[in-house]
Amino acid sequence: MYAGLLRVPAGIMAEIVAHAQAASPHEACGLLRGRDGVVTALARGVNEAAQPATRYQLDAATLLQQLDWDARGEALLALYHSHPTSPAWPSLLDAAWAYYPDAVTVICSLGGLMPVVRGYRLARHPLTARPSGVQPVAGESALWAMPLADGYAFVQRRANAEDWFRVEVLEVQLETIEATWQTHASVLE
Ligand SMILES: [Zn+2]
Repeated sequence: MYAGLLRVPAGIMAEIVAHAQAASPHEACGLLRGRDGVVTALARGVNEAAQPATRYQLDAATLLQQLDWDARGEALLALYHSHPTSPAWPSLLDAAWAYYPDAVTVICSLGGLMPVVRGYRLARHPLTARPSGVQPVAGESALWAMPLADGYAFVQRRANAEDWFRVEVLEVQLETIEATWQTHASVLE
């Protein structure tokens, strides 16, 4: 299902791929800021995950840069990360820990002959019944999951209760645009 459009200058698209290649075999991660659906700058983050080859956890200092952007009238438009070997499709854990529903999830896959960059919205919906067929997720003591045609279904245990939800994966078209004055300026900062 189609979930909108994000315009990304060619230079920033190239930076995403360059960061992914530099970080490989670990996952790279970072943020894209901008306004009105147009990305104006990229902020490289540090992947602080304990298993960085298959997971990412963006460092807090990079996340806090958002506050400065808000003050300048810009916003967090996307979080990007790389998949060193797997396809450019949100993993089960990408979907389970998608905490920024308004931001586009941009994934750069290095798993094929050429790098592939795609964008998604990860929409979380509560379920009224416990999904049958969920399996324990390796390395996650309180999470069960199963793939669906358009995402994943989850059971997450909390204290004395369970959360039942599904995460719908919606494709966001990434349109590569020519570099603008603004992106040029941000590179010089
Ligand atoms: Zn991922």
